[in-house]
Amino acid sequence: MKYDIAIIGMGITGLTTANLIHKRFPDKKMLLIEKQEIGQGTSYYSAGFNPPLSISDQAKQSYKTSSTLIKTLAKEVGYVLPDTIDVVYMTEDRKSLIEKYCKPAGHLNDTSTVPAGSISHFFKKEIGGSFYIGKGDGSYVDARSYCEKLANNLTANGLDINTQTYVTEFSKKGDYFQIITHLSAIYESKDVIVSTGPFLNTFEPNKKISRNKKVCAFSINIEPEKNDCAFIFLDDEAFLLPLHKEKKWLLSITSTEWGIDPDKKITVTSEDFVMAKKVLNKYTNALDEYIGEAIVFADNYSDQKEIKVEKNEAIYVRGTSGGGVRYAPATGLKIIEKLGYK
Ligand SMILES: Cc1cc2nc3c(=O)[nH]c(=O)nc-3n(C[C@H](O)[C@H](O)[C@H](O)COP(=O)(O)OP(=O)(O)OC[C@H]3O[C@@H](n4cnc5c(N)ncnc54)[C@H](O)[C@@H]3O)c2cc1C
Repeated sequence: MKYDIAIIGMGITGLTTANLIHKRFPDKKMLLIEKQEIGQGTSYYSAGFNPPLSISDQAKQSYKTSSTLIKTLAKEVGYVLPDTIDVVYMTEDRKSLIEKYCKPAGHLNDTSTVPAGSISHFFKKEIGGSFYIGKGDGSYVDARSYCEKLANNLTANGLDINTQTYVTEFSKKGDYFQIITHLSAIYESKDVIVSTGPFLNTFEPNKKISRNKKVCAFSINIEPEKNDCAFIFLDDEAFLLPLHKEKKWLLSITSTEWGIDPDKKITVTSEDFVMAKKVLNKYTNALDEYIGEAIVFADNYSDQKEIKVEKNEAIYVRGTSGGGVRYAPATGLKIIEKLGYK
């Protein structure tokens, strides 16, 4: 069987892209290949948080596009998006916070009082009770269930999906790519999309363009209250998200540890716990005793912290950093543009 498009990697990026392509171009024959089970890469670890915190103009645009598109996409695949929540922006430098985030966002020009909550009062005690709040700024998805729904929709529409299939190499022979798997199977496809998140090293022709960093997610074992806000620590690439169903908070931190190989076992170290305490201790010492277990994984960073979709015979998605929910739909559209479909 010859395909029009083969997608290598079925994380949130590959799955979103496949759904967008199928909806717009249902006649294109598509093959999806995943070396593990669906959504078991970086997307498995994602907190699924989607705050409006993009630095560059391009990233801001991707955020806007994705925030709109995910609503349609979620509806189509039967995933119910949770309500938005308020976000409290934490920083040691309040002036720069206003300049950088609040003014452009156009909705944050003053301090407000955070509603009393299970964690808010710890911060209030130590820094006084006034915060910058983005009303309804935070949206999030349960990345695992969302990936499942995206995949189910593809299966229901009859697309060819091969899991437990490791692509070892691919190369162009005439009009078609030949894609070779660990079982020496050969597939032929006109276009190839490499959406392998941080597992790019297998194919990445220029390994210096994007690099992997370790991202840690710690449990903070206090039950959130109904109206608790999320907290973003702007100086540290970290946030606290209330997980109501799990009855705990999640503290996500991007570490400074580069060069992480996602194919090797990535472990939580004592330095990671020190890092978590350091971030929280800027604002309160009262949370130390609630820091629980952590999970860690690699994510793929580009220099501008924005996703790059490049065509170099095949189409490569690089620099997915924090790009699960935030950028996957916009990335899918960029891929369609690179495919040149009208
Ligand atoms: C702890 C943590 C918290 C995070 N929190 C957030 C958050 O709150 N919000 C947010 O937006 N983002 C967050 N992220 C980032 C987000 O999870 C990733 O950016 C996103 O999941 C990347 O998705 P992806 O589909 O590009 O890659 P992946 O999910 O890694 O998918 C790539 C897939 O390709 C497969 N693959 C690799 N090589 C091959 C091969 N040779 N053959 C076949 N298959 C292959 C892998 O098995 C994998 O399933 C977080 C990341 C971590 C680690």
